[in-house]
Amino acid sequence: MSDRNLRIVMMGPPGCGKGTQGDILQESLGVPHISTGEILRNAGKEGTELGLKAKALIDDGNFVPDDMIIAIIKEALAKPEMQKGFILDGFPRTVPQAEALDVMLAELNAPLDFVFQLQVPDEILAERIVGRYTCTQCGAGYHDRFKTPKFYGVCDKCGNTEFVRRADDNRRTIKARLATYRASTAPVLPYYETKGILYCVDGTGSIVKVKAKIEQIIGV
Ligand code: ADP
Ligand code: ZN
Repeated sequence: MSDRNLRIVMMGPPGCGKGTQGDILQESLGVPHISTGEILRNAGKEGTELGLKAKALIDDGNFVPDDMIIAIIKEALAKPEMQKGFILDGFPRTVPQAEALDVMLAELNAPLDFVFQLQVPDEILAERIVGRYTCTQCGAGYHDRFKTPKFYGVCDKCGNTEFVRRADDNRRTIKARLATYRASTAPVLPYYETKGILYCVDGTGSIVKVKAKIEQIIGV
């Protein structure tokens, strides 16, 4: 485990491996991985007004409005456990969100260190998305072909035997999600490139290979 304060953003289209690598980095760096998708989906399950609104948008393959998600992230970043760093995944997804994040981090005097862009072609993204599922208890991510539990039907991390697939992880919504990514999120990449903190990583290798490339850049 590292004693460095690292503030990292994982970027890339749905299915590129942001969540998977975010979880791995959480272990190796000892800083929390905040997945905004997960936060929103949990809020949907809890049935709060904000959560239900977000759930309806996500299930249709849409984004949650900037002000809603910015408020959620601001709350999360204020938590004491975030003071030694974090791995953000699923945020920022638009240029206004990236700008809002910069303002928040400037106030905390805590700029970003690394923004990773995981590059994966569309055909592979679709394969990864339709095969993925998560443990209902601990949120560990799996895949029908690429990441199966050691014992069939049993979560490696917590032993739970119930899993869930995301409502929007189907071929019907993938096209729309990729188009939204290209239109709204891809423009965030040059924003970080200009700042000199964007690192492009080939995300097509195995989970272990991608992990090694990222950790080499960070210098773990
Ligand atoms: P994202 O968070 O970017 O949407 P995920 O981390 O959920 O993507 O990954 C999508 C699916 O692909 C998951 O089921 C995961 O287990 C699998 N996966 C992630 N990285 C790889 C990889 N390098 N090779 C094969 N499958 C992967
Ligand atoms: Zn589990």
